[in-house]
Amino acid sequence: MATVRKVIIIGSGPAGYTAAIYAARANLSPLMFIGVQWGGQLMLTTLVENYPGFVDGIDGPPLMEIFRKQAERFNTEIIPEDVTAVDFRRRPLVVIAGDQAYEALTVIVATGASAKLLGLESEKKLMGRGVSTCATCDGFFFKDKNIMVVGGGDSAMEEALYLARLGRKVEVVHRRDTLRASKIMQERAFKNSKIEFIWDSTVEEILDVDKGMVRGVRLRNVTSGDRSERPVDGLFIAIGHEPNSQLFRGQIDLLPTGYIKVVPGTTQTSVPGVFAAGDVQDFTYRQAVTAAGTGCMAALEAERYLEAHHS
Ligand code: NAP
Repeated sequence: MATVRKVIIIGSGPAGYTAAIYAARANLSPLMFIGVQWGGQLMLTTLVENYPGFVDGIDGPPLMEIFRKQAERFNTEIIPEDVTAVDFRRRPLVVIAGDQAYEALTVIVATGASAKLLGLESEKKLMGRGVSTCATCDGFFFKDKNIMVVGGGDSAMEEALYLARLGRKVEVVHRRDTLRASKIMQERAFKNSKIEFIWDSTVEEILDVDKGMVRGVRLRNVTSGDRSERPVDGLFIAIGHEPNSQLFRGQIDLLPTGYIKVVPGTTQTSVPGVFAAGDVQDFTYRQAVTAAGTGCMAALEAERYLEAHHS
């Protein structure tokens, strides 16, 4: 096992990179596991208009490139691997990636959240064959086609608006008759002539697994119970996210929803020296800027912890 690190950061969204920038500038020589698919959820986003500092907005992937370059400029050591296990009951703390174990005095968990799925067998089988969770990644394949988006939040509106630029029409299926999305996003979607809404309905089945591609969906109206089939070429699932906290189950306290429990107003988890930042602990705000803010908090708290316990 190599030398004991002062700080290991797990995750590479706005929270992880901000923690790295602060920790590196405090001479803590952070080691960062960015994962095989680095960059977090913003890598799957188009225009980000609400991250301060970018008057005209910026696409998610170039924004994450900037985060990464800034962290690298201060000599953050980056390992492009997924962490496969941790042992926070030991001191130093242990982080395992590949066949190697790394030791650290503090760990900042910034593993974010992932897209939720409907849980249908057909969804699993047709994922990447017409079913997608990322309009920016896959919208291109559905030029002039019939597209359906599931969900009623900001993500669903964002996906629908993006896809409306490409597809023939976009139907948004929502399980209630009012949207959860912010007013501005609702207005944009309602105004778009290519977007139609199907209310009070859920996707019961995606057709056609036998053909190995999406040909349509079977919908169920939740108020009347009526079922109907609609032809669709692409189905985008935009029903929210789940925290990526499985790795830490049994190691630190989680909330029943799976989010990492932190002391309110801090990033301190139930294990001293382990801090959690970003969407893996934030079920309220879930914004890039709040993730970056808590990444900063985690690095400052790690620094104070090291001063108090290891100086
Ligand atoms: P969300 O706000 O949790 O919305 C999830 C939507 O999916 C809800 O409408 C929900 O229905 C529906 N849903 C959940 N599970 C479902 C299921 N099993 N079957 C069918 N429908 C289901 O998630 P989000 O849209 O990803 O947004 C998350 C956060 O990020 C929010 O704070 C949002 O404001 C923010 N965000 C902002 C932007 C932006 O400003 N440009 C873009 C994306 C996200 P119910 O409404 O009935 O619960």
